[in-house]
Amino acid sequence: MKKASLLGLVILLSVGMTAKSQVKIGFEVSFKEPQAHYAEVEMNISGLTKDYVDVKMPVWAPGSYLVREFSKSVEGFNATANGKPVKYEKVRKNAWRVYSAKASNVKIKYRLYAFEVSVRTSFIDDSHAFLSSTGVFMYPDGMLKQPSTVKIIPFKTWNKVSTGLEPVAGQAFTYTAANFDILYDSPIEVGNQDVFEFMASGVKHEVAMYGGGNYDKERLKVDMAKIVEQGTAIYGENPNKHYTFIVHNFSVGGGGLEHLNSTVLGASRNGYASKEGYNGFLNLVAHEYYHLWNVKRLRPVALGPFDYDNENYTTNLWVAEGFTAYYENKLMRRAGFISDTDFVNQLVTAVNNVSNTHGAKVQSVAEASYDAWIKLYRPNENSANTTVSYYAKGEVLGILMDIEIAQATQGAKSLDDVMRAMYNQYYKKLGRGYTDAEFKAMVEQVSGKSFTSFWDKYVNGTGPIEYEKYFGYAGIRVKDENAGKSIPYLGLSSKKTEGKIIVSGIARNSSAWVDGINVNDELISVDGVPVQSSIDLGDKKVGDTLTIRVLRDGIVRDFKVTLKAGTSVKLVAELDGNASDAALKVRKRWF
Ligand SMILES: [Zn+2]
Repeated sequence: MKKASLLGLVILLSVGMTAKSQVKIGFEVSFKEPQAHYAEVEMNISGLTKDYVDVKMPVWAPGSYLVREFSKSVEGFNATANGKPVKYEKVRKNAWRVYSAKASNVKIKYRLYAFEVSVRTSFIDDSHAFLSSTGVFMYPDGMLKQPSTVKIIPFKTWNKVSTGLEPVAGQAFTYTAANFDILYDSPIEVGNQDVFEFMASGVKHEVAMYGGGNYDKERLKVDMAKIVEQGTAIYGENPNKHYTFIVHNFSVGGGGLEHLNSTVLGASRNGYASKEGYNGFLNLVAHEYYHLWNVKRLRPVALGPFDYDNENYTTNLWVAEGFTAYYENKLMRRAGFISDTDFVNQLVTAVNNVSNTHGAKVQSVAEASYDAWIKLYRPNENSANTTVSYYAKGEVLGILMDIEIAQATQGAKSLDDVMRAMYNQYYKKLGRGYTDAEFKAMVEQVSGKSFTSFWDKYVNGTGPIEYEKYFGYAGIRVKDENAGKSIPYLGLSSKKTEGKIIVSGIARNSSAWVDGINVNDELISVDGVPVQSSIDLGDKKVGDTLTIRVLRDGIVRDFKVTLKAGTSVKLVAELDGNASDAALKVRKRWF
């Protein structure tokens, strides 16, 4: 029964592939004016039989949950069919309809302006081109499963191309993508980047460094390999044939974006020499590398295959991103870059930060995931009061879940077992994404206990984090140094702009919130004393009243503000030297 239906599937697939393989898609990207930030793109489609073809530019880049409208950077769109000019028109913000009138060969040309520095947008100047594929290549509507070839013609002073795409043997700077999902998941760096390689977990890794910097190649080869090996150990396999790190070194840089067999990292050019800077870079490497399993393969059901024309909604970014933020710390510890104490301190800092986020009492982490498109990626002055980051809260939930699984199984299992089982079940066996219910079911299967109250309280709810209980399971004492204290708290943040002190944030339910200070107010004086750089409460006490004079839209106003006590926690952790054997078992498994 199983074999028969599989055979049927193979026949259907091969018939489908023969029919589809009549259509051929090829791109050529060249650079006439890189100094003005332009690329010329040519797209050749052959094997067409219809009256028209719609070509579309994605509106977003997977991994970065914001509609970015990449088609806004396209100009000079032009089309010919069988060598002759044809009519075309715009039919959607990101789509052009080319009336090819059954002609088999359609050639489309356009110019692309690229001047936004980030890991998910293209940037071109006289020194290099970074091509973020979703904003470069158009796809013929309905043909996302088609293979394509990409030929890069570097500018005359450039001599290298770095990408995760498969090279075509014998053809310079020419690559193939088995389908558009792979093409869109493969950024391309063109220029004179410094390239070096290392082997880890049996996979060749290439590092392409743009922008120079004080990095030590030999040291990076050894240390990046350790991270690769720790990640591979969790999942039991490394699914790539080769992997490419594209690193952009800037005066101040950061951030990264994950791809199937590559990543783009932003780094600070001269940050590699300090311990903090170096570990920060390795942390980023660990984060993006871990994503090759968690989110690029093991993924929420909405995240692939993608809809490139619209938002793709999921309530699970707390697993996709938050757990990755958690695992970057685990990989750093297991690779020996941080101590047990550093590890615990980092985790307690994460709990501390979420506990002190007012928005964590308003928005659940499932809601935060779903609304990433309109909230996390579009923050405003009130975001801290109304939203929680699925990175930060997801990291905390990773910690709690990991400890709870180890506790429930007396140290026999951990979150690693859940992640590996999910990878095997949904990516490898079923070849699809998971639902929230399926993720919860796997946690329950591995731990042997119900996680319904965990989900109600922490995933779909906004309950306070029981840090003493969870860390206590692992023999770690966490205490709040602010407990029992009455510390006056104004709840106002400000910044100096052009010599003026401007209010930039008001914390929910704080003294400033209750008594009416607003964001954008210019701070003039407190009790008649001019504000120099920010408000200093000095020896003021809870219950004292201040007169804060502000300039609001050109009008002077005085506000009486009565100081309330702050509600923030200040958590510190310590490994309990007298922890029970049971707690030590949990700790050992968790670490
Ligand atoms: Zn991430």
